[in-house]
Amino acid sequence: MNPPPLPTIDPSPVPAIRVDGLCRQFGQIRAVDGLSFSIAKGQVAGFIGANGAGKTTTMRILATLEYPTSGVAEIMGINVMDYPAKVREMLGWMPDNFGTYDNMTVIEYLDFFARALGYRGKERRERVEEVMEFTELDKLHDRLINKLSKGMGQRLCLGRALIHDPQVLILDEPAAGLDPKARVELRQLIRILAQEGKTILISSHILSELGEMCDTLVFINAGRVVHHGTAESMKRHGMETAVVNVALVGDPAKLEEWALLSPQVTFLQSTKNGGRIEIGDSSPEVVSNVLRRMVLDGLAVTEFRREERNLEDAFIEMVGKLDREAGGK
Ligand code: ATP
Repeated sequence: MNPPPLPTIDPSPVPAIRVDGLCRQFGQIRAVDGLSFSIAKGQVAGFIGANGAGKTTTMRILATLEYPTSGVAEIMGINVMDYPAKVREMLGWMPDNFGTYDNMTVIEYLDFFARALGYRGKERRERVEEVMEFTELDKLHDRLINKLSKGMGQRLCLGRALIHDPQVLILDEPAAGLDPKARVELRQLIRILAQEGKTILISSHILSELGEMCDTLVFINAGRVVHHGTAESMKRHGMETAVVNVALVGDPAKLEEWALLSPQVTFLQSTKNGGRIEIGDSSPEVVSNVLRRMVLDGLAVTEFRREERNLEDAFIEMVGKLDREAGGK
């Protein structure tokens, strides 16, 4: 008797979100221009770009609301163009603008979408209750939607995206217009969803917040990826040298003496316990090698802290550089 055929094992795990060579043209405007990136399952990814960079268009394509002109967009390995209904089952979408609904209460609104998603009877009530509880809208279930604060409205919109418990969430500017308290509340909800293992793509102009919340950042400009990596790698992007703050036990002048004799190291400034040095190559290997040499040469190092730009500065610098390059063409 022949053994049953071996199951096919896919060696490469399917990313939760994948776009490859994605383009979207609106007349003369190329909103998305050969965009490619992948987000692994369970990651929280920030989507950054200046106004008009193509974030919303990309997110709308992923949410099956817009056709690409060319290229591929997939959710959990499923092509959004070929199987939009299947993709919608796996995807929660929160648009950047949430229309007001006069004469509709919180519970009516969520119930309407639960019905539209095919939930019936007890299951529908349970889904709506669970979402209201999660978004802490349960005490406001009879509040008219046009009487909700901006923060409550955003939570309701998130709740609507969660009714069918999707594995992937695409959130377009969820924190826009929220006060700091409402932003913290929203961030907490996103953190819980991430802990549940959902994959989240979130666009925001509040970069410091994205840096804290996201495992990875996809920075796009003029419809193309400029940088994809951690917040730390974005802060260091394009920095050819590394500036490091060093503190020592003992005479701080020893640092300057050591720097004078060390290749690739320039002493910039003394501080109370040591000083600031510049290393001529910013790669982590060279930076860690400098620290190793310092210790081997007998300096009692208590602090070795690399200076970084914050995300906003890195973003502005990168966009400025791209604009200058585009202007020079
Ligand atoms: P923002 O941060 O301002 O929301 P964005 O990165 O989301 O910007 P998109 O909204 O994707 O950018 O827009 C990208 C470009 O495509 C812009 O130049 C925009 O004007 C243009 N665009 C978007 N949608 C359409 C449309 N339906 N018709 C024509 N042009 C469009």
